[in-house]
Amino acid sequence: MTLPEGARERWVRTGGIELCVAELGDPGRPTVVLVHGYPDSKEVWSEVASRLVDHHGFHVVLYDVRGHGRSGVPKPLRGGFTLEKLTDDFLAVVDAVSPDRPVHLVGHDWGSVQSWEFVTVERTRGRIASFTSMSGPSLDHFGHWINKRLTRPTPRRVGQLLGQGAKSWYVYLLHTPVLPELAWRGPLGKRWPGILRRIEKVPAGDYPTPSLASDAAHGAWLYRDNVRPRLRRPRVDAHAHAPVQLITPSGDRFLSERLYDELEDWVPRLTRRTLPAGHWVPRTRPDRLASWIDDFVLSVEKERDGEAAGETRPGETREDGAGRPVRKAAATGRHAERFGGQLVLVTGAGSGIGRATAFAFAEAGARVIAVDRDAEGAARTAEMSLLVGAPEAWAEAVDVSDEQAMEKLAAKVHAEHGVVDVLVNNAGIGLSGSFFDTTPEDWRRVLDVNLWGVIHGCRLFGRQMAERGQGGHIVNIASAAAYQPSKALPAYSTSKAAVLMLSECLRAELADQDIGVTAICPGLVNTNITATATFVGVDAQEERRRQKRSTRVYGLRNYPPEKVADAILRAVALNKAMVPVTPEARGSYALSRFLPRALRALARVGPPL
Ligand code: NAD
Repeated sequence: MTLPEGARERWVRTGGIELCVAELGDPGRPTVVLVHGYPDSKEVWSEVASRLVDHHGFHVVLYDVRGHGRSGVPKPLRGGFTLEKLTDDFLAVVDAVSPDRPVHLVGHDWGSVQSWEFVTVERTRGRIASFTSMSGPSLDHFGHWINKRLTRPTPRRVGQLLGQGAKSWYVYLLHTPVLPELAWRGPLGKRWPGILRRIEKVPAGDYPTPSLASDAAHGAWLYRDNVRPRLRRPRVDAHAHAPVQLITPSGDRFLSERLYDELEDWVPRLTRRTLPAGHWVPRTRPDRLASWIDDFVLSVEKERDGEAAGETRPGETREDGAGRPVRKAAATGRHAERFGGQLVLVTGAGSGIGRATAFAFAEAGARVIAVDRDAEGAARTAEMSLLVGAPEAWAEAVDVSDEQAMEKLAAKVHAEHGVVDVLVNNAGIGLSGSFFDTTPEDWRRVLDVNLWGVIHGCRLFGRQMAERGQGGHIVNIASAAAYQPSKALPAYSTSKAAVLMLSECLRAELADQDIGVTAICPGLVNTNITATATFVGVDAQEERRRQKRSTRVYGLRNYPPEKVADAILRAVALNKAMVPVTPEARGSYALSRFLPRALRALARVGPPL
């Protein structure tokens, strides 16, 4: 596999070994150094590196760790891979590529394990401006994490130990002599690319490189030289001297998320990020990583510039208990770890549940696109989103039932902002009245908005997500009416039942592509929907009376749209298939499953929920 176009390779000599170092972009810009893991070579970063150069304009440096790729191999192997020697290598590389300015360090897997050493030892102080860690803990922190659980065991802590112990099976295997080398140079090396594709969903292509078998054989010494000694005697002074961004993939097969529970004790300036993905995120989620690295590097650079100019930025820094400065994370909303920096599009965002959802994502630091046929409402939502935490927000006046307008919207969003990470198909209208009073025109109107609007959204934005191949999430707002029949809501309920089934089918279809689909089923929520709902079979005066009456009932129930928004963010974070939200929605869902006859009887009785 080749490096991105324009990569300039050079050799850096350190400890009797030549390291192969590749540079991209303008050396005058902030330098980002990418350190690869096991079993890998620097090419694992090629997708991330090209984005950091092309989209974000950084000076990017990647190098083959000793014994890997095109770098030299230490002799003898035993003792040639200690963290001390790896730190020497790192310092030699940064001295060569960025002699005058500290670098922004990014590590994955073993690249992150060793980078933790770099950022916590004294001799690198001042050479590292920031560190982004993914899927590789500090061995010192890990050692303390284990000790704490062994010396003060509780059932939960023992469970955590056993959980991580089970995920570390390969570490024990790598400590056996010769066998790992034989396996990697034999069948495992041949099968590895297929395993990565099947289990880790790493896209097919010219990765991993042909050096895989020897990388893996040599890299076994990373474990043998370091793991046991460090876990037995972890350093007590392993505090980070630069801000750290921790990116945790929630589906990592090798590392438990719990490993990082006590990280604040070691890192005074920590920003946490989580993403639903497996271990090999540099290959499977390059867009998200590049965007988070960009945000983090720029925020640290800005802070450094401010410090250099002697500015104090109110609110930007505070001190922890030990008097160390703590940097405020970009967004502090409850879901900021998961949604910060993501692109979220919400339809029907000019009012009610849509507006509250746009705000909730904004509070989590997402970039928000508020779509509504009511231009003013959408614009207001976008403005307010900026105030509550969105780094960027836009408004689009579009009718979701208009196929061509939706196509134009999808093309525009793609061209101007990229692929949407979370799509919320929320726009919907109410329509109440008996089946025989509902005209074909009424049916068309309600199905056009409530069903076709959702279909257009899923088709257009869902396809972009699928083509990008880096996951995503679609939320469709159905209703408790989707599973709760009512003689007064035939058209509305039919549209919502269709949305629910569409969501289930799509969820099954897109699961393999890591695109989650969720149907949300609110009950009675206090929004504008009752005031704008159509009541068929009655004159205008009676319609107004019914609108007012239902508005009063919903007002008395007074379930706020913000709670639905919260349920939506939680459902996306947990990738839930279907969420009935209000207590009455949950109750009728239980009835629909366990006592459907009771629900049918209710359908004949009174006005709908
Ligand atoms: P709302 O009337 O407060 O907001 C709906 C928004 O959608 C409005 O801003 C409206 O302008 C917009 N909209 C309507 N048709 C549109 C179209 N064709 N194109 C673009 N935008 C359009 O209502 P709400 O209660 O927030 O409803 C949001 C969703 O929640 C709807 O799908 C609704 O069916 C569903 N829902 C609401 C309740 C409830 O009790 N409020 C219950 C269950 C489901």
